[in-house]
Amino acid sequence: MISRKRKSSAYCDPECKALKKALADLYGVKSENVFLSNGSDDILNFAFMVWGKNGAIFPDITYGFYTVFCDLHGVKYTQYPLKDDFSIDAEDYIGKKEFAVIANPNAPTGMTMEMSDIEKIIASNPERVVLIDEAYVDFGGESALPLTEKYDNVLVCQTFSKARSLAGARLGFAIGSKALIEDLDLIKYSTNPYNVNRLTQKAGEYAVEENEYYVNNCRKIMENREYTVGELKRLGFTVTDSKANFIFVKSDRIGGEELYKALKDRGVLVRHFTKERIKDYNRVTIGSREQMEKFISCVTDILKGE
Ligand SMILES: *Cc1c(COP(=O)(O)O)cnc(C)c1O
Repeated sequence: MISRKRKSSAYCDPECKALKKALADLYGVKSENVFLSNGSDDILNFAFMVWGKNGAIFPDITYGFYTVFCDLHGVKYTQYPLKDDFSIDAEDYIGKKEFAVIANPNAPTGMTMEMSDIEKIIASNPERVVLIDEAYVDFGGESALPLTEKYDNVLVCQTFSKARSLAGARLGFAIGSKALIEDLDLIKYSTNPYNVNRLTQKAGEYAVEENEYYVNNCRKIMENREYTVGELKRLGFTVTDSKANFIFVKSDRIGGEELYKALKDRGVLVRHFTKERIKDYNRVTIGSREQMEKFISCVTDILKGE
């Protein structure tokens, strides 16, 4: 553990006590069940470091950073292909010994898994840790948080970067059993105990205090998402059932890369992936109603060949 020689009040609180308490109260858990770090990427990094000994498993199409952390820490990994409809096959993760990481909602599809399937995966091997990456859960998904009270081997990871618009403050948190939080603390206190600075801790506390504001923001994003999905379907697009602040879409009338470029020429940036399985798709981040109307009007023009 850390030697606490630097008592100077000039340093920030390495335990982030006030913020932990605020989050614990918000989510109905104890402070000892909360871990805070410099963005949830930081937590994922620690997680692969500490639980990756027996290897790691996650889907072939998911958050791109998982393979980066595996390569960095020499963790052997297996990526199970999503089913044809882009859903995650729970069977692939049941009874395995490897550290399992599931983004729910998944990226870039935005699709969610049934909570009963997630529970089956967790319950199938109590010795193995399952991490549920809930970066996008506040846009209509269901959180696995209740499962952290029932099972000691599940860690739920969330962030202030998406639903709370604080990506630049770098603040992520995880909720799980005391034992899992202690594993993460060991690494944090052995590397950089002060990795959540004082300004960020304060920003986090105020954001939790103003939770209603963010819940409202998320509701607006969800409304704009449903508007955009409706318009795109009207234009003949295939759209996955996204519960995130982005949608994943393709058209039979124009290729993914072609649409991406045509939009870029009009000053609208969407994300195109070159991976074979998803190269016909684009991920479209949901913005304001005005931005989404502009996006739809550009897509309409592009399809008309204008
Ligand atoms: C954005 C994102 C993260 C990382 O968020 P930070 O807290 O900004 O590090 C982790 N996982 C997924 C799936 C994300 O989309």
